[in-house]
Amino acid sequence: MILGFGKKRIDDDDEEVELVMFQGALNGKEANLAANARLAEAGLIPAKEIVTDALSRRADTIRIEPKGATAAVSLLIDGIAYPGGKLPKQQALAITQIMKLLSGLEIKQRKKRQEGGIKAEFSDTPYEIRVESTPVSGGAERLLIRSRNLNEALNTPEELGFPEEMRTTIREKTGGNKGMVMVCGPPRSGSTTTAFGVLRSVDSYIYTIYSFRDTSSREVSNIVPFEALEGDDLDETFQRCIRVEANIIFLDPITDAETAKVVLKRSNEVSLISEIVAKDAAAGIVQWNKWIEDPQAVSEGLSLMISQKLIRTLCPECKEAFRPNAKLLAKVGLSEDLKTLYRKPRPPEQPSRHDPDPCEKCGDIGYIGRAAMFEMIEMTPTMRELVATNPTPDAVRKQARIDGMRSIQKDGLRLVEEGKTSLEELQRVMKS
Ligand SMILES: [Zn+2]
Repeated sequence: MILGFGKKRIDDDDEEVELVMFQGALNGKEANLAANARLAEAGLIPAKEIVTDALSRRADTIRIEPKGATAAVSLLIDGIAYPGGKLPKQQALAITQIMKLLSGLEIKQRKKRQEGGIKAEFSDTPYEIRVESTPVSGGAERLLIRSRNLNEALNTPEELGFPEEMRTTIREKTGGNKGMVMVCGPPRSGSTTTAFGVLRSVDSYIYTIYSFRDTSSREVSNIVPFEALEGDDLDETFQRCIRVEANIIFLDPITDAETAKVVLKRSNEVSLISEIVAKDAAAGIVQWNKWIEDPQAVSEGLSLMISQKLIRTLCPECKEAFRPNAKLLAKVGLSEDLKTLYRKPRPPEQPSRHDPDPCEKCGDIGYIGRAAMFEMIEMTPTMRELVATNPTPDAVRKQARIDGMRSIQKDGLRLVEEGKTSLEELQRVMKS
């Protein structure tokens, strides 16, 4: 359970927990602790304790939100927020300032949003820690600390769990073909990881792939960075890149109509891979229509829209098998022959002295880690016709169902059937 912030981290059996090691700012700027000795004294150990606490509970995000005389801490574990106690205002300030200093940010600047990061190591595992400070009312700052376990980074389509059929379609739609292959999802849903997975699905030894996007933080092989020349705009950069016979161009996420228009214009010359923010694949297609205001052009330029959602996976140590009744199976669309499903353990109806011990593996949450569920809308001739009529997302979803395309719900049921997650969790994710 999530307790014990701000205190010295001592476990129940009085064993001292080793604290996280900070190994320098990602931007290379050295933190001058000697010149900030008082800040280091007030903030360094509490900051290390709070990050250690979070990492040992597998939390990937810590949020410190100032509220009057205190600051509320919350943790995100597999996408779910848990309260992490309160800190006195002064301590929250010291933690915020020292984390900024260690991330190579300006500690004197407290009125502007800043973002940086720290290299770190905990329990022999390398982490990348991203730090973001945002001014809030009353002159205070909200601090977000996000950590990424570099050993657990999912990279290849296999590791990401791309269904085989999806990989085949990606290869068909990129390869020697032209058009836009787009990945979409809600913010922070993992769509960047999926976009890189799409890029890796392409055979980079057969096709010439250039990237306008900085790929240095992720391992990709045989992708050539393509730099914009000084003074060149995006369209001129496209022209130069197409002239050197690019088959595929990997782009930065597209966030505005102006960029979308420049990109779409090139979709009949080269294959393009990028990502956008949208709730699901149908919403992603409609977003393109909104940006371009020419549904016919969108229907011709798009070739594939992929979206994904993350779902928590059941803890293998404590998950509970049960026999589902036929009615439930029929209702959710699972085969009635299914004999066993899994769920997180239920608390006993009558508390007794024989209650099971809390599960150590998942901290008694019942879930550990997440898996991705994918959906894919392919621009078939019927889908192209529909998109050209400027349809609603619902109309696109309906057509996708008729075309028999993979939906997130269906992909989630596959994970339920395999015992990797529960129906409850699938319902929660589909509602959000
Ligand atoms: Zn467990």
